[in-house]
Formats: sequence, C-alpha cells, structure tokens
Amino acid sequence: MKIIEIRPRVVAVPVKYPVVSCVRKSKKVIFVILDILTDEEMTGISYVQAFHYHGARAIKACINYLEQFLIGQDPRHIDVLWKKMWDATKLLGHQGLPTFAISLIDIALWDIAAKAANLPLYQFLGGERQAIEAYQSDGLWLESQELVCKQAEEFANQGFRTLKMRLGRANVDDDISLLKEIQYVLDDKMELLCDVNQGWDTEISNYMDRYLQLYGIRWIEEPIDVENLKGYGDLAKSMVTPLTFGENLYHINSFLAFLDMDNLKTLTPDLQRIGGITGWMKLNVLFDLYNKFSSIHLFPEIAVHLFPLIKKKRKLEWVTWATPLFKEPLAIENGYVQMPQGKGLCLEWDERAISDMQE
Ligand SMILES: [Mg+2]
Repeated sequence: MKIIEIRPRVVAVPVKYPVVSCVRKSKKVIFVILDILTDEEMTGISYVQAFHYHGARAIKACINYLEQFLIGQDPRHIDVLWKKMWDATKLLGHQGLPTFAISLIDIALWDIAAKAANLPLYQFLGGERQAIEAYQSDGLWLESQELVCKQAEEFANQGFRTLKMRLGRANVDDDISLLKEIQYVLDDKMELLCDVNQGWDTEISNYMDRYLQLYGIRWIEEPIDVENLKGYGDLAKSMVTPLTFGENLYHINSFLAFLDMDNLKTLTPDLQRIGGITGWMKLNVLFDLYNKFSSIHLFPEIAVHLFPLIKKKRKLEWVTWATPLFKEPLAIENGYVQMPQGKGLCLEWDERAISDMQE
C-alpha cells in the first residue's frame, strides 16, 4: 500500500456554547482536517485545531512541506514516517505548528493502519471495549453566573456526573461567588472540575485554594502560566486542591519536569501537541511508570480509542466541537461515550456539512 495524496482542508465549525476563557474567545472553532489517500482506496482521516486562519494556513504549509516524506511510502510504517517528519522539522522547532502538522498526519496514518487490519483503532492498539465515562466540558465558560448555572443544570439533566467550569474572571470575588452559587444546582454526587486557562498567578492560586477546598473542587487545571515551571513546583507543594496540567506541553520531554511533582495528580496531554497517537503512546508508558493519572485534552473521537490503554484514567473530556464534521459522530448517553463500531477511527466525514463550513 502506498500514499498517493495528502489533502488538507480548513473548516470553521460554529459551536453551541461560545468559548470564553482566559486565553480565548470564539464562536467558531477552526479546524484543519486531513485526508491521506492510498493506492488501495483506503483513506485515513484526522483533524487538529488551527485557532485562526493564519494558523490554518501555516499548518497547511507545514503539511505541504512534509508531503515529500510521505508520498509513495507505505502508510503503515508509522514509526519510520514519524521519525522522518520529526527529523525534517528539527530546524523549524518542535514547539508549535510543525508538531500540529506531524500530529495531524500521524493520526490519519493510524486510522489507515487499523482500517487495513480490519479493526477499530482501540482494538488494533490492543485495547478492549469498555464503558468510558466522560466529563462535560462544552460549556461553563467565563459567562454570567446565571448562564453558567443554567448550563450546569442542563448538563446534569443530560446525565453527566462531572462538569468542568472555567475560572479566571477579572475579579476573583466573581469566581468565588459562582463557586458558591453553582453548589445549589449540583446534587451531592456531582463533581466539579475547574480550569483557569493560565489566568492566575501563584498568589491568587494560593488564595483561591481555600475556596476550592471549601466547595470540594476535584481538580484545578492550569492555574498559572504554563511556562512558569518554578510556579508549578511551588503550587504543587502549597496547594491542597489537586493540580491538573499538560494540554499546552509539546512532546514528551516537556512532561518530564512535572512528573515528580506530587500534587500534580493528573496529566492531560493534547494529541496535536505531542505528536499524535505515536507521541501519546510514549507518554502513556511514562505516566504508568510515574504512577500518574491521566486524561486526554479534547479530541473525544480519538481519545475514545486510547482510553482503554490508560491504566490510571480520569474521565474523558467531552466536547462537541468536531461533532458536525462526521456522518455518525461519537455518541454519548448518560455521561458515558458509546464505543464506536467499525474500522480505524470509525469516522467518516459528512461532506455536505463540510462543504458548507469550508473556508
Ligand atoms: Mg484546559
């Protein structure tokens, strides 16, 4: 089998709950979606976020550059191709868009390899079918107290037992008052996770810790700037609320510095920043060795295939951002994702919807 064409496209998908966090505001999510075509009529697909059109154009430029290492090659030789792409981007740097492009390609290659083996990806990777509980991450952004509480009620009624809420408002008292108000919406059995998207400093984080404890917050995610390694080290000693981190780290090496931090309980790598499924599999071994819990940042359609391989797993992050791209999107019922049936990623583009959203 040989790769004959690599086809990236850019789509802008409107989201049901506009994203409003400390790092981002968007009503549409911009994706670069990819098809890798082979001479055996087997196609691999994947997607990554581009954040904006300039990002999308740059990712497409990286894909065009990487094509020369892929056309004519057997797509099942993933490790060989991954290393070629990695080496070929050394001088561009592995922190950023070149890694988005490698990850995008890598995921599509795994899709092809599993399809060629006639298996769903999770089974191809050695995982078994299982119930995977998700946490709801689609809403609860930096919106009004009223809207956040209304969404929390809606998600609770959908059967989710764990919700993620964003914090980091300009006035911390607004965050504190919301932490209190939302308790009236959730029943005792529900869990709340909080994500600050790097919006605090160490001082505010330590101040907020007492409120996070008071309201039983299960994890506090990215409280401070991701580049503040010393700050995370300090918070891992001073904060009681368990820390969660990882979505903005690139490749494996960056995680090493954080694995010894005891209160950094859960790591949440992002597939487009760690070199796709190939990169994630290396990290998964590392998390196991260091006895860390993990989840996967976004990409529920792909994460569902990887979760069966995680030994100490947290819940899967549920978002519907990519849902409109697929003919039969990943389904969820009562807070549990339904393991897909089929081959590879078990996904097929909804070409009609894509043509409406394509840029
Ligand atoms: Mg986050």
